[in-house]
Amino acid sequence: MLIEPSLTLIVALFVAAGAGWFFGRYRRPASTPQQNDELKEGYFQGLRFLLNEEPDKALEVFLRMVDVDNETVETHFALGNLYRRRGEVERAIRVHENIIARPSLSAAHRMHAKLALAEDYFRAGLFDRAETLFQQLAADSPQRATALRYLVRIYEQQRDWEQAIAAHERLVAIASAEHPTAIAHYHCELAERARTRGDFDGARAHLRRAREAQRNFPRSALVRADVALDMGESELAATLCQRIVELHPKLLALALPRVLRALREKGSAQLEQRFAAWIRPEPSARAELAYAAIVAGLEQEPFVSDCLPDLLREEASLGEIARALAGEPTQLTANQRRDLALALGRVLRRTQRYRCVECGFASASHFWQCPGCRSWDAFAPVALLDLTPGMYQR
Ligand SMILES: [Zn+2]
Repeated sequence: MLIEPSLTLIVALFVAAGAGWFFGRYRRPASTPQQNDELKEGYFQGLRFLLNEEPDKALEVFLRMVDVDNETVETHFALGNLYRRRGEVERAIRVHENIIARPSLSAAHRMHAKLALAEDYFRAGLFDRAETLFQQLAADSPQRATALRYLVRIYEQQRDWEQAIAAHERLVAIASAEHPTAIAHYHCELAERARTRGDFDGARAHLRRAREAQRNFPRSALVRADVALDMGESELAATLCQRIVELHPKLLALALPRVLRALREKGSAQLEQRFAAWIRPEPSARAELAYAAIVAGLEQEPFVSDCLPDLLREEASLGEIARALAGEPTQLTANQRRDLALALGRVLRRTQRYRCVECGFASASHFWQCPGCRSWDAFAPVALLDLTPGMYQR
């Protein structure tokens, strides 16, 4: 259905068409009056079809016009834009392919058409074709930066991290990147892949490059902790996790399972002592620890029920419910605390535990890159009792 912006575009199209045959008539004395009349009639016929909501017929009329040249090409760009705005990407593709096929176009118009077509392919999910065109535009065109930004997106979607790194490096050499920390994440992705293969040296080499790209990068420290755990270096893993939490408290839920794994696999008195120091005396720190553990699925750990009264005090609504059912949080029995922790774990597992602070995308698991808005490092645990459902969900 046609809406206001489309109508504006049609008016623009109409003006462009008018300008097209007006200039065509004056600049090309070779055209006969009859040819000009045919051209004019063709544009009006195409517009009539558009206004009558017959986009296919309009498209056929415009594609039949052999007269796409530097004077009339803007009309065809406007038409391609119109189809694209209406979400009709396949029709936009046909218009832009038709423009590129004309031999008499100027280099600037051809470049413009190539970029428009590459964007159409990208929107249609035809990444191979989009990649070919964006590579050409990235090699040598005024649109280099735009083309490289699209290439980065394509390689991210395809999880082709080597290519993403190469495109990102070319981009930052000439313009700013959309997400500056992205390149460190690409190296971490490669490190995780190497670690899965058991290639620990390769993993550490990728992590070094991640740290070179981004200082104090918590994800590379987390992957390094995983490598340390795989290699039986529990002390090192615990040290890394401790540093991550000090610098990035919101990653507590990711660091905690690794610390407990270190403790379990090589439970030395030293490690036990170290973990005991994580359970700090301040109620707010104990509440955060209990909550992070529940988010991480560790609600069965004894320290969670120890810290639960602090969590109930910090989370006022939850505390009221607990008080109404079982009495003062500090007076709860060990069994009641444990049951409550298990119940909270079940509740959280059924719902989204993480949410993107940029776009509100919510999910049950943690993502380094938001699947909704493609932001990196934007996922944080949700509030324990979110009483505004639907507000952030997509
Ligand atoms: Zn997002």
